[in-house]
Amino acid sequence: MTDQKKVIEILCAITKVMEENKEFLTDLDNVIGDGDHGINMARGFAEVEKQAEGLAQKDIGNILKSVGMTLVSKVGGSSGPLYGTAFMKAGMLIGDKAEIGIEDFLGGLDAGIEGIKARGKSTAGEKTMLDAMIPALDAMKEKQAAGASVKEILDAGVAAAQAGVEATKPMVATKGRASYLGERSVGHQDPGATSFALLLAEIAKAY
Ligand code: ADP
Ligand code: MG
Repeated sequence: MTDQKKVIEILCAITKVMEENKEFLTDLDNVIGDGDHGINMARGFAEVEKQAEGLAQKDIGNILKSVGMTLVSKVGGSSGPLYGTAFMKAGMLIGDKAEIGIEDFLGGLDAGIEGIKARGKSTAGEKTMLDAMIPALDAMKEKQAAGASVKEILDAGVAAAQAGVEATKPMVATKGRASYLGERSVGHQDPGATSFALLLAEIAKAY
């Protein structure tokens, strides 16, 4: 089970990894976008971290909703509103719990994916963050159904997210800025899918 304190710790770990990968993500976005994805993610989570102390008293649903609102309001790029929507939807689903388990996490991720699809008018196979998120969720649900441990479930999710990132390379982007490149987006991994794989790996590491 994961309590509020642990959720805050994970958010701080995500902030650190986004800061560490700021250049990497920005370089990826330079190739098929406008070169700001790393800056956007690092800035957004730095704002989240600033508010972390005040969030510790809230229930987990409200923590996640606050994170989502911060990302929506503090990040200029499309990834802020999209990740922000995902956190808000996850928070709405989880509600006033002080502790969550793997089923809440998977439910929250599912709600987050649906939120991104609706806000981004996007779906699988368009070379976006969804191409890491959806395979990760599917892999984790499969492991969960097979009775795997939480660690095994999360590890399978990370592996599937990383495979999803690789799978974005041959895709032609049809959503977001990369879609302006059309066929020229082929051969490059999607920055948003990459940041999600990093984020999920931090969640898995917490176990
Ligand atoms: P911007 O594209 O506004 O510069 P970022 O560079 O921070 O914002 O984020 C780009 C990432 O956002 C892409 O790599 C992709 O994963 C994701 N993205 C963009 N548009 C969409 C969309 N409509 N649906 C899902 N994800 C999207
Ligand atoms: Mg960009």
